[in-house]
Amino acid sequence: MEQVEIDLAIVGAGPAGLYAAYYAGFRGLKTALIDSLTEAGGQVTALYPEKLIYDVAGFPAVKGQELIDRCLEQAAPYDPVMLLGHRAETLEPDGQGGFTITTHRGTHIATRAVLITGGIGNFTPRPLPDGASYEGRGLVYFVRELEVMRDLDVLIVGGGDSAVDWALNLEEIARSITLIHRRDRFRAHEDSVSKLHASSVEVLTPYEVRHLHGDGEIQAATIFDNRDQQDRRIEVQAVVAALGFTSDLGPLREWGIELDKRHILVDTRMQTNVPGVFAAGDITEYPGKVRLISVGYGEAATAVNNAAVHIDPSAKVFPGHSSG
Ligand SMILES: Cc1cc2nc3c(=O)[nH]c(=O)nc-3n(C[C@H](O)[C@H](O)[C@H](O)COP(=O)(O)OP(=O)(O)OC[C@H]3O[C@@H](n4cnc5c(N)ncnc54)[C@H](O)[C@@H]3O)c2cc1C
Repeated sequence: MEQVEIDLAIVGAGPAGLYAAYYAGFRGLKTALIDSLTEAGGQVTALYPEKLIYDVAGFPAVKGQELIDRCLEQAAPYDPVMLLGHRAETLEPDGQGGFTITTHRGTHIATRAVLITGGIGNFTPRPLPDGASYEGRGLVYFVRELEVMRDLDVLIVGGGDSAVDWALNLEEIARSITLIHRRDRFRAHEDSVSKLHASSVEVLTPYEVRHLHGDGEIQAATIFDNRDQQDRRIEVQAVVAALGFTSDLGPLREWGIELDKRHILVDTRMQTNVPGVFAAGDITEYPGKVRLISVGYGEAATAVNNAAVHIDPSAKVFPGHSSG
């Protein structure tokens, strides 16, 4: 059972959590970033890694994944403990003003303050039927690095933006791409769907996966036409299951924090009703709240600087200028 001792536990490694990790490091605080997903980036990585974002200050246009990579790079010098693939399950006061968070994998995090940047709740990829035993052995839910698919025959499953964008972006990298979707209509941007149909990607609808095959690693997949149940076997070495994600506040509902539906109520310091527990990003609620990345960044800075004072009452809220 792993034990981690830090100053600030950040629950959620989306853009707000990543920026908070940078800011906490800048303030000399040791942090841990906890996320139920195995990749950092929250909604950006899970839902639109290949889309351009136009409204983040300093970037006239930036791809979702590039923005997340930059956030990771910015936080890296402060060495946050990365607990990816961990759902923060329980929060217990330690009786001395701090807390212990326990994750669903049994890791205990002793921390002096908590920052919840949980967005729209913990994300879980929708599983591919018959896929569990191939996770990490050819089956992925994200394509973090397009290069890992070089010269492979790739099966992509899904009908949303992620599935279509990955198919288009892998066209020049993979040896072959088959994209199947269980419906005839795609949910992705019309422009992307037109590009898909004009590309070399083999698009099969309405098709689903029946079985994956392989001795250890994936070697083939049986897919079927869901109108006539006819099977077809294709040789593939990689399967990308882009079936979407479910999100759920789940365990956070039991933490004694005042909620307004799916959001956490905060004051102007971004503190919740529990002293020492702060929140930032999409998960917060107050009059006039706007759910955008840039707003989450600002809230993360406010939350961390106030958490620094909670941890050390002799500290100042204003951190000084980073350019100093
Ligand atoms: C398709 C789409 C396009 C968008 N385009 C833009 C845009 O152009 N500009 C813009 O500003 N915004 C855009 N947004 C909104 C933007 O993505 C969000 O505002 C932003 O991601 C919120 O960041 P966050 O860090 O607060 O939360 P999130 O990105 O939601 O990350 C929260 C993370 O917390 C984790 N988590 C939650 N609970 C737990 C728990 N108990 N344990 C462990 N982990 C947990 C989740 O797994 C998740 O990874 C878009 C959103 C979508 C869906």
